[in-house]
Amino acid sequence: MKQSQLFPKTRKEAPKDAQSLNHKLLVRAGFIDQLMSGSWTLLPLGLRVVTKINQIIREEINAVGGQEMLMPLLHPKEIWSETGRWDKADEIMYKLSDTRKKEYVLSFTHEEIVMDLLRKNIKSYQDLPVAIYQLSTKFRNEARAKSGILRGKEFMMKDLYSAHANEEDMMNYYEKVKGAYVKIFKRLGFDFKVAEASGGVFTERHTHEFQVIGANGEDTIFTCNKCDYSVNKEIFEGNEGEKCPKCKEGKIEKIEGTVEVGNIFPLGTWYAERMHVYYTDEKGLKKPIWFASYGIGPTRVMGTLVEVSHDDKGIIWYPQIAPFDIHLVELPGGNGKEIYEKLKENNIDVLWDDRDVAPGEKFADADLIGIPVRLVVSERNGDKIEWKERTTDASELLDFDEVIKRLKK
Ligand code: ATP
Ligand code: MG
Repeated sequence: MKQSQLFPKTRKEAPKDAQSLNHKLLVRAGFIDQLMSGSWTLLPLGLRVVTKINQIIREEINAVGGQEMLMPLLHPKEIWSETGRWDKADEIMYKLSDTRKKEYVLSFTHEEIVMDLLRKNIKSYQDLPVAIYQLSTKFRNEARAKSGILRGKEFMMKDLYSAHANEEDMMNYYEKVKGAYVKIFKRLGFDFKVAEASGGVFTERHTHEFQVIGANGEDTIFTCNKCDYSVNKEIFEGNEGEKCPKCKEGKIEKIEGTVEVGNIFPLGTWYAERMHVYYTDEKGLKKPIWFASYGIGPTRVMGTLVEVSHDDKGIIWYPQIAPFDIHLVELPGGNGKEIYEKLKENNIDVLWDDRDVAPGEKFADADLIGIPVRLVVSERNGDKIEWKERTTDASELLDFDEVIKRLKK
């Protein structure tokens, strides 16, 4: 991609109302735009990052048998009344009615919609288990809006739903998905804890949240310094400094400012009982379906990545989710076009700064946008290419073949 054609250009100043770092940097670097509080456009650079995050999620969810699909965003009132959540989740829902006075809600989650699909399609134990998911938009009436793209009124979610014949099968799969989530968040490069949490408007049961550390977030967790025990402050009943109730060896520490990037919910039969979703077991008996749901917010993930990886010059993307592999900066006398074409031939995704602007402006933009490797071609560098990683100040002069070798590693 030629930077001269990239929409939009970077900005020197952050928006006046921007409080959080992800808001300031992502807007300045041209990844997102705010339409109104909590409502964001993913610009071309932002969509590239979210697409890569989504791909990592897809690969790991497909690996545990998830089948991708896509559900409607506009839901009839009636289906939400079946579980009572039309009233119970009133605060978070965007409700509307049409000119014929029919009432609707914009999707804030999809349990009821999936339950409706299951009751139309599941007859016997032989039809179970089922694991279906989507990557789609959610709408939530969120009050706090100071966190940039971490908290949207409209945002992207990967939501997976699983249906089972009994509790054991549900819990086995729940643990499998927990493992898939651990893989996803490791691949994304996060330092995180899996914390026990409440189920909010979803369930009376405990759930598990994936909480990123050092991300300037709104959550607080208590965690053991020896074992994997972690609990959200909302349900923690002990004190900092106490002995860990699980391993009885470690000490409980408090970690503030975490960001919840994922949450998994072992819902049980509550939904099936209210929506009459039954299957016939081996003995011909009618039984309610065991149900669980699992969410990750890819747009929140993008904002969280910025919160944990940046410096005073801009964003520092990890290679696996960077918008491009390479930022090729052409200075006067450099053979930009030739190197650009050769990189593309080698299947390397390049942003080529072909603009007619001062070198200082090009370097400042490269640091702001945060692509992990910057290559400079110039008269001074001659046939060599200057290689500089975003995380260091040191640079090296390399031959083209050496550049390719490093990128293919
Ligand atoms: P929070 O407690 O931060 O409001 P939540 O617990 O209500 O979030 P869940 O219902 O667990 O959110 O949603 C699953 C995932 O969707 C979250 O882990 C998060 O990654 C993402 N998510 C939830 N709300 C938002 C939002 N308003 N903006 C962006 N992403 C969100
Ligand atoms: Mg949650």
